Amino acid sequence: MNVNNFHRLLTAVSVSASVILALAGCGNAGSANNRLDDTGKPIVTIMPVKVAAMIPMKDMAWTKQLEEDCDCVIRWQEVQDTAWSQQKAPALAAGDIADLSIKAVSPEETAKYPDLFEEMTQHLDQLPNVKRFFDEQPDARKLVTVDGKIRVLPSDRGKDFTFSGQTMVINKTWLDKLGLNIPTTWDELYNVLVAFKTKDPNGNGKADEIPMNIQKLETKSIGGWWSPFLLLNSTGIATSFSYTPSQQGIYLKNGKVGSWIQTNEFRQLVDFYHKLVSEGLIPADALTKDSSKYDAQNRGDGKTATVGVAFGWSNRTVFGQDNPTLSGQYVAMPAPASQSDVTAVWDASGVRFEDHKLAMSAKAPNKKTVLKVIDLLYSEKYSVQQLYGSIPEYVTDDGDHTYTISDDTFTETNEGKMNSLQDRLAGWIPDSVTLNNEQWTPELKEINKVYESQLSSFDHDRDAVPMYLRTVDENDSNTLTNNNSEIFDYALPIIARWMIQGGADQEWDEYTANLNKLGMEENVAIWQKAYDEYTK
Ligand code: MG
Repeated sequence: MNVNNFHRLLTAVSVSASVILALAGCGNAGSANNRLDDTGKPIVTIMPVKVAAMIPMKDMAWTKQLEEDCDCVIRWQEVQDTAWSQQKAPALAAGDIADLSIKAVSPEETAKYPDLFEEMTQHLDQLPNVKRFFDEQPDARKLVTVDGKIRVLPSDRGKDFTFSGQTMVINKTWLDKLGLNIPTTWDELYNVLVAFKTKDPNGNGKADEIPMNIQKLETKSIGGWWSPFLLLNSTGIATSFSYTPSQQGIYLKNGKVGSWIQTNEFRQLVDFYHKLVSEGLIPADALTKDSSKYDAQNRGDGKTATVGVAFGWSNRTVFGQDNPTLSGQYVAMPAPASQSDVTAVWDASGVRFEDHKLAMSAKAPNKKTVLKVIDLLYSEKYSVQQLYGSIPEYVTDDGDHTYTISDDTFTETNEGKMNSLQDRLAGWIPDSVTLNNEQWTPELKEINKVYESQLSSFDHDRDAVPMYLRTVDENDSNTLTNNNSEIFDYALPIIARWMIQGGADQEWDEYTANLNKLGMEENVAIWQKAYDEYTK
């Protein structure tokens, strides 16, 4: 009987903890403490949750080096994202997990099954690379800490990935043609959009310009990736739209948690959007059209630009990855200030770190070997290989923490073949590492330079939702989920209506009072408690 079946059997018949201990103690669990292959090497099972484009783990050459370095046999139990989302709940309920899981479970999920996942802070002395990672990046440690415990390790793609991925882009070719500058206030933005609408900046003789294009609102959150509410940063309230609390309407000012959807600044923003929609500067169907239509509008016929301003990951992703004719017309712009006496800020979230990367089964046999594998994965050499491909096939180790990535890594990815785990790595790229020929980030680093000044104008721990902010107990999580479901159902249609038809000023007091009745005040208190816990 294999170990997984053994555990499943025990779960199925609800054997008490004492019986399990007794069985394990008498040695009948057989391989429980030394699951070995025929040659006597310890076997470690690893389940990476993958995407279809990734080649099999055995074909990534670094996995063979890893087996040599750990002096163990690794059995890869690969699963696709789509399959895992179906299997996860039953697998966790049954306690049926591999020795190591990559990109499979969140800190909250591991906290929900504390007996299933090994608590890692107790092992940090056996994990020198992970310990150094946490010493150098203390926020990464906070990112996975729940109630002082860590049951899943985070990842760090390195300093090249220090940007938010939230970008406001504007057609610079049009601005130049019209003799206009990048707008720095809402008044200037308004004037620019009017010029875009009325002066045929694409020069085709048709009034076909969409001065500003926005995507429809989310349904399961208020903010989110590339939300039109990124313009809240214009008012001095910083969003962190890659992070859950900010998406749920939460913000921070001077260490105090509040609800941004009840601020006067948000009301100003809604009024501003209504002005733009009512004057035809934003399409009236902006909040109802689906995302495919939004994308199609931005890309137009691929030759003639028709959109002036939009939000996205980059000008290339919004206006065509392989279409420099179109996307080359656009540049990133800082948030224009809502008023000339307001200091605008920018979205404080980031894409460098991720929380749900490597979880260890509390029941893993060969624990010492499993810990060795973990520490190898978090070493510099294996982290680079997980992210960019094997050495020497795809990456050259130039020594002195310097690596050169081959063009093949990028061309093969573009052709739909991923030769590494890429952003799914369970690893850490230290700041001391230099990566030559890195082709994913230069453009984004360049684009995001326009936000440096706005991002350095506030305290990222006290004036924005930090990446590590999460709810610390299950009751609070449930309360948030229940409250948010009612809050979103109530608020989203109203906000959308105000943006299109107006009316925010008249209905505002009733709206904010209703939000509190639906639990917004309670949510704010829960997030304040969580914030205080992480920053005490
Ligand atoms: Mg035109």
